[in-house]
Amino acid sequence: MHKDFSAKIMSNVKAQSSNYFDIWILKFGFNKIRLGLFIIPVLILLILSCAKEPPIFKKSKFLMDTVVTITAVGTKDEVEKVIDATFSEIERLENLMSGFKEGSDVDRINKSAGIGPVKVNRDVINVIAKAKEISEITGGAFDITIGPLSKLWGFGVKKEYIPQEDDIKKLLPLIDYRQISVDESKSEVFLNKNGMMIDLGGIAKGYAADRGVEILKNMGIKAGIVAVSGDIRTFGKRPDGKAWHIGIKHPRESEKVLTAIDLEDSSISTSGDYERFFIKDRRRYNHILNPKSGYPATGCQSVTIISKEGILVDALATGVFVLGTEKGMEFIESNKSIEGIIVDSKGEVKVSSGLRGKVGL
Ligand code: ADP
Ligand code: MG
Repeated sequence: MHKDFSAKIMSNVKAQSSNYFDIWILKFGFNKIRLGLFIIPVLILLILSCAKEPPIFKKSKFLMDTVVTITAVGTKDEVEKVIDATFSEIERLENLMSGFKEGSDVDRINKSAGIGPVKVNRDVINVIAKAKEISEITGGAFDITIGPLSKLWGFGVKKEYIPQEDDIKKLLPLIDYRQISVDESKSEVFLNKNGMMIDLGGIAKGYAADRGVEILKNMGIKAGIVAVSGDIRTFGKRPDGKAWHIGIKHPRESEKVLTAIDLEDSSISTSGDYERFFIKDRRRYNHILNPKSGYPATGCQSVTIISKEGILVDALATGVFVLGTEKGMEFIESNKSIEGIIVDSKGEVKVSSGLRGKVGL
């Protein structure tokens, strides 16, 4: 009795499952043998295509006072040497452009301010010339002659230090990008006034990302990413044919991403008040300075800029941060090739028209 009952259940289960399966087969017009003939080659193809898909190799190194991560499509054996050559190029740029390294091109330019022109490497000429252009278009919000003020505030060097107002005011006449003379034909730079200093901290990382991509491409890499901290340039596509998916940090919740965006052959940079800052008497002081006032810019929590070139997005993220939410978004909207996301001082997110619908914001 018991046996029969269980047998009945079993036969019911069999019947049910076979019915269910047949409906599925009928729906697609197959019988079981044909289904097998269909599924097996599909499975083989799937396994083969997975095995064939080129891998992605990634490596990081501490350069330019931050973590540089290079991603390339290929196996470790294929791409590691190329990545190392790219790191060497970035290190070479750091040695030219760091203001803290004795004997660097920037150090020599600063030490000769008001004295005489200095012959420098072509890369330094490129970056300074571009910096001047970006100062022009941002109305001086981005200005590499910020050097004396960066030194006075000493972010990352002096702890929670607020300079005397008089000391800030005294330096303001030295902050003027128009006082940088660049002689491209002689590859020379001269800072017209004694005491002037350039600081490439807001632009050199983006240039390094550009040069890094150039090296990778020249050495045969078809797709990848050079990320000099938050200054990122992508090229080509992922091996699965999709665009690179780049996350943007949340300015107040360090573990969270604000959003992510798909990029191919373009650059993205985020400047925020959360990277280097201190809080004193409930006021936040960050490392992006307003060249007009000499004090930290306060209009935004973060600015993300997207465009073709790394050097441009790096400098513009800093410049738009100084411009503040309203003028900053006006600037972004007035340039067809530039898109951006601004998180204002209250944490409200503004997205440029070209990005609406493309980012989950
Ligand atoms: P991060 O260095 O965190 O990537 P940015 O690209 O915005 O951020 O660069 C900030 C750096 O740029 C500062 O540390 C300083 O060296 C320099 N800087 C600060 N204010 C300005 C400014 N108004 N224009 C140009 N450079 C600036
Ligand atoms: Mg920048």
